[in-house]
Amino acid sequence: MVEPTIYEISSNGRVGFRFPESDVPRVDLPDRLKRSDLPFPEVSEVDVVRHFTHLSTLNYSIDKGFYPLGSCTMKYNPKVNEAAARIPGFSATHPLQPIETVQGNLALMYGLQEFLKEISGFAAVTLQPSAGAQGEFVGVKIIKAYHQSRADEKRTRILVPDSAHGTNPATSSMTGYEVVGVPSDARGNVDLASLRDICDETIAGLMLTNPNTLGLFDENVLEVIEIVHQVGGLVYGDGANLNALLGIARPGDLGFDVMHFNLHKTFSTPHGGGGPGSGPVAVTQKLADFLPAPIIGIVEEATEDVPPLYGFITPPKTIGRVKAFHGQFGVLVRAYTYIRMHGPDGLRKIAEHAVLNSNYLLSLLRHRYTLPYDRTYMHEFVLEGVWADAPDVQALDIAKRLMDYNFHPPTNYFPLIVREALMIEPTETESKQELDAFATAMLKIADEAHSTPALLKEAPHNTPIGRLDEVKAAKELVLCCWLPEQE
Ligand SMILES: *Cc1c(COP(=O)(O)O)cnc(C)c1O
Repeated sequence: MVEPTIYEISSNGRVGFRFPESDVPRVDLPDRLKRSDLPFPEVSEVDVVRHFTHLSTLNYSIDKGFYPLGSCTMKYNPKVNEAAARIPGFSATHPLQPIETVQGNLALMYGLQEFLKEISGFAAVTLQPSAGAQGEFVGVKIIKAYHQSRADEKRTRILVPDSAHGTNPATSSMTGYEVVGVPSDARGNVDLASLRDICDETIAGLMLTNPNTLGLFDENVLEVIEIVHQVGGLVYGDGANLNALLGIARPGDLGFDVMHFNLHKTFSTPHGGGGPGSGPVAVTQKLADFLPAPIIGIVEEATEDVPPLYGFITPPKTIGRVKAFHGQFGVLVRAYTYIRMHGPDGLRKIAEHAVLNSNYLLSLLRHRYTLPYDRTYMHEFVLEGVWADAPDVQALDIAKRLMDYNFHPPTNYFPLIVREALMIEPTETESKQELDAFATAMLKIADEAHSTPALLKEAPHNTPIGRLDEVKAAKELVLCCWLPEQE
């Protein structure tokens, strides 16, 4: 069913606004400044409220239901984060205010830098990048600046395993490096023999997504890092999947040189149509001088009765600025609140429960769906959405059918190394009942795929808009479904 637009519910003479009595003399505009062809809808206040409230409920969101979109960490966003971000001292300040007037904001940013250092095991952090992908770009720029500062010009290549997130090769090539793929072995780890073969003095570094996009922790991570270090390369850790490691393992301790965080994933700020991201970058001591400027520091130490003065610090060999002002401040407040609400033990529990939920859900599904790598998984897992004895059905059909059961589909067709991939990340905020309900739907769909495949091919049936031609929808996007009648 196509929803009526606000114009279609318009009715002559209805009014939904009231101007206050004018306290200035009325002036009639000359006709040449007036347009008669503006087709404003005529609706009452209740018409407007009902129309838009109804439309808002057609959207699917984490506040409405389970959202197992793999790699995206769609955990519940606690409302206390929103309350903190709306405190006027945070929400009504301006980035150009004198620093003396925004010490609370700077103290929060400084505190967040310190928390992220402790959580990741690195020496220095920038909060500037506005998303994970931009954090990667900053990290690889820093790797490049480091080699250049040592007049080491022969390094032109970056290694990216085939289980990496798609942004990793994109980042490497945007930074001007040649991207060299590294295959995975039969257990889903980086293939060490291939890595040794490829590694030489032309390698600037390796970008490792760990846990990788299969949801597997690389069992040889220490060796992978060692091999790259031995030829003088640096190792970038894609930290977007930190939800699996929080409070348990620190990438800095494992030997990574640089990583980014996805505050909007691990640290629970709304994303995916729900809000902006934030991708802070952490580095070891030897890379700290290259961080984008400015970072937040203490510019005057505290004395007995005066608190410290926070201000902006420009690292001596900075790669420059990557974002206007100081990053997505509202996201930083939310992430800071989240970390303070949980504390160190709470953060560790997040990772433990994320991994437990993922393996519990997998245990309910693995007898019915093919699992390409038979291991214990981290925060997510990847199934094949295809059966030899149900040849008509593909991963896309399963994803669409899930919408009929009121679940957001998992990520599909990614990673590329799994046939008809269904990448499922339940996160720690889901209850056992919710996981059971999702598993029940997935098992029902597996049955339907064999008994009534047409039901899947034509799904979704219960959504406001049915199956779209996805290519056409992307290439010929129609956002305006109503146009005024031409006279
Ligand atoms: C989400 C994600 C990214 C990219 O982060 P954005 O904030 O979407 O730019 C990079 N790597 C991995 C593993 C991710 O899951």
